[in-house]
Amino acid sequence: AFDVLVVGGGPAGAAAAIYAARKGVRTGLAAERLGGQVLDTQGIENLISVSHTLGPKLAADLEAHVRQYDVDLMDLQRAVALVPAQDASGLHEVRFESGACLRSKSVILATGARWREMGVPGEREYRGHGVAYCPHCDGPLFKGKRVAVIGGGNSGVEAAIDLAGMAAQVTLVEFMNELRADAVLQEKLRALPNVQVIRHAQTTRVEGDGSRVTGLTYKDRDTDAVHTLSLDGIFVQIGLVPNTEWLQGGAVELSGRGEIVTNAHGMTTVPGVFAAGDVTTVPYKQIVIAMGEGARAALGAFDHLIRR
Ligand code: FAD
Repeated sequence: AFDVLVVGGGPAGAAAAIYAARKGVRTGLAAERLGGQVLDTQGIENLISVSHTLGPKLAADLEAHVRQYDVDLMDLQRAVALVPAQDASGLHEVRFESGACLRSKSVILATGARWREMGVPGEREYRGHGVAYCPHCDGPLFKGKRVAVIGGGNSGVEAAIDLAGMAAQVTLVEFMNELRADAVLQEKLRALPNVQVIRHAQTTRVEGDGSRVTGLTYKDRDTDAVHTLSLDGIFVQIGLVPNTEWLQGGAVELSGRGEIVTNAHGMTTVPGVFAAGDVTTVPYKQIVIAMGEGARAALGAFDHLIRR
């Protein structure tokens, strides 16, 4: 059995495994896809002290750093269930799709999240080439350019306000008749001269020239008329989904959005089970935050082990 078993191999899981292994405890890391969301990212410019890197390069660096330690690394392993220990001295069990089953004194859940996609033609093709999901990450790339934000909830309106400070023109596109964002955000949005809002519009296609985004086609849901906006970028802000389907109905408390609730030490509502990164309720989903959270969860797990 392990002392610390990390589930997930993104920035949070990698940091957790390194911190745990450095304590000299038996550490394992099992992940469906080592690297996580970082693998789907192009340029990264906000990982402090690394002024520029590429997603696949960072993923390889994370793995290489983990491999410098005595960590039992298991890639291509999808967890399907967590069975918490019966009592304080028992072992937690994680079951995998492959039929494998691992036991550990403590577990760190770091299964991350995924951006909800629009599911329209061109979206995947131009991901990282004008289609973006993270205004904190990619906003500065669109300085002086024309961008659209898809989604009028809090994250969409916050993104539009944020981008309006950099982009020349921001168009917010909402599917429903009304924005769902908080009134104070909507008020702030209305006060910005370079933002226009299009309501009751269904995005149907991302337009591009083969190498980059050139626009967005949408259908006016009132008239069925089809329009195309000329754009340099599209920020999709229709939700971030935590990878906790496999924990539904289990013992670990999830928020209304399905995110894992943790305390100040990164521990979940199950003693000895910790969580870190985008899968938790921690606000602002970023690499540097996920890494910090992974370190915190590992130190929390170690503290738990020495008191066990
Ligand atoms: P993830 O990276 O999501 O990793 C989750 C891990 O868990 C993966 O290994 C996954 O395979 C695994 N997993 C999931 N489910 C299971 C399961 N059931 N069983 C086993 N393993 C499982 N942040 C920045 O700071 N700067 C940027 O420039 C930036 N750009 C981004 C661009 C894009 C396109 C995207 C999508 C995100 C970007 N982010 C950026 C956000 C950043 O990638 C995330 O905040 C960060 O990766 C979260 O790390 P994590 O370890 O919590 O989760």
